[in-house]
Amino acid sequence: MVPENGAKKPWEGCSICSSIPDHAYEFWKAGVCDGPGIPAVSAKLAIIGAPYFDDSTSGSNSCIKRCPECGTAYRWTTEYEYLVNGSEDDINLVRLSPEEGEKAVADVLHSVAVQKKLFQVEGARRVHLLKTSTTNRIISEAVGYLDHGQLCHDEDITFAVPALVGAFTRHVHDAKDCYTGKQLIWMLSRYAEKSKEHAKRVFDALQGLTGKDLPPEVEELVECIKKK
Ligand SMILES: [Zn+2]
Repeated sequence: MVPENGAKKPWEGCSICSSIPDHAYEFWKAGVCDGPGIPAVSAKLAIIGAPYFDDSTSGSNSCIKRCPECGTAYRWTTEYEYLVNGSEDDINLVRLSPEEGEKAVADVLHSVAVQKKLFQVEGARRVHLLKTSTTNRIISEAVGYLDHGQLCHDEDITFAVPALVGAFTRHVHDAKDCYTGKQLIWMLSRYAEKSKEHAKRVFDALQGLTGKDLPPEVEELVECIKKK
């Protein structure tokens, strides 16, 4: 416990944070590391708001990490600079005070809530387009938007399943390797893979398709789900 007099900071008695300095950093140039380095134990810190936020170093990036043991928060940042003679990567991990940490975590969670809401609103608009459009380009863009949300942010796209299945009969199947049809198969089979309930939901929606001119993709997806 933290004494009220403030003599001891929360992280001082923590098995994880006690070996992380107030400011850890490392500087990479052309694959060679300089600087004191970031302690390996920092891998135990949890990224707040994942998967919306991450600590990928493929470009400039930042996130807030929090210790699962004592709750101390850190601001992690990386500045990436592409240079012809070897790119540079500057990585910092800065410990926040309890007050700074509370605010930073609240800001991140607020930002995630806003992004989730945006996905719901824009997702609903795309579902409407899926239900009304017969233009492959519009269907493809809608599927792409929903797929990206599912893949990158682990969004639940259950609300879009009936419209996605319906798009099989709505798109113009004008080629053997129809891109829009392939997109629908990829996306719905991945969704179905997630659980038995998901598979059943897609399967049931497929059974509801009627009409004598069902495109071959419907049968392909049914077979794909049956195998699972
Ligand atoms: Zn800690």
